[in-house]
Amino acid sequence: MSNMVININNIIYDSIVDGPGLRMVIFMQGCTHHCFNCHNPTTHELKAHNLMSINELIEMIKNNNHTKNITISGGEPFLQYPALLCLLKQLKNYHIWVYTGYTKQELINLNYDEIFNYINVLIDGRYHDELKSLNIPFIGSTNQKIHYFKK
Ligand code: SF4
Repeated sequence: MSNMVININNIIYDSIVDGPGLRMVIFMQGCTHHCFNCHNPTTHELKAHNLMSINELIEMIKNNNHTKNITISGGEPFLQYPALLCLLKQLKNYHIWVYTGYTKQELINLNYDEIFNYINVLIDGRYHDELKSLNIPFIGSTNQKIHYFKK
C-alpha cells in the first residue's frame, strides 16, 4: 500500500466503450499532447484536480469494481508514471487496459516499460482527427495500436 498521491480527473464505474466488458475507467488529470479535437479537453490542465492517495483509490476500486476490469485513460496517464506504476503493481488480479498519447516506443525510450509487466493491453499514440476511427472498437484514430501483454 502507498500514501503516494495520484491526480484524477474523473472515475466512471460502468463503461462499455473503453475496453471489453463492463469496466471501471479512471481518467487521470493532465496532458501535454494537444491533439486537435481531443475528446477529453477537461483533462489537459496540469493542476491538482482531485488528489487522492493510492491507498484511497485502491480502496475505492475494491469497493466498486466487481468485474475486475479497469481502464486507465486521460489525460496522459504517463505524466504520473511513479503513481501509475505503484497503482498497477497492486492490481495484479485485475484486467488492465491503459490508454496513452505516447507510442509504445516512446515509453520504452522514457524508461517507462516496466509497466508492461502489470497491464494486459496498451492502446498507444496521439489522437489524429483526420484518421478518426468510426469502425474499429476501442481506438480513437487508426494510427493508434492495441498492444497485448502477458501479466
Ligand atoms: S493524448 Fe488523449 S487526452 Fe491528450 S490531447 Fe491527445 S486525445 Fe486528448
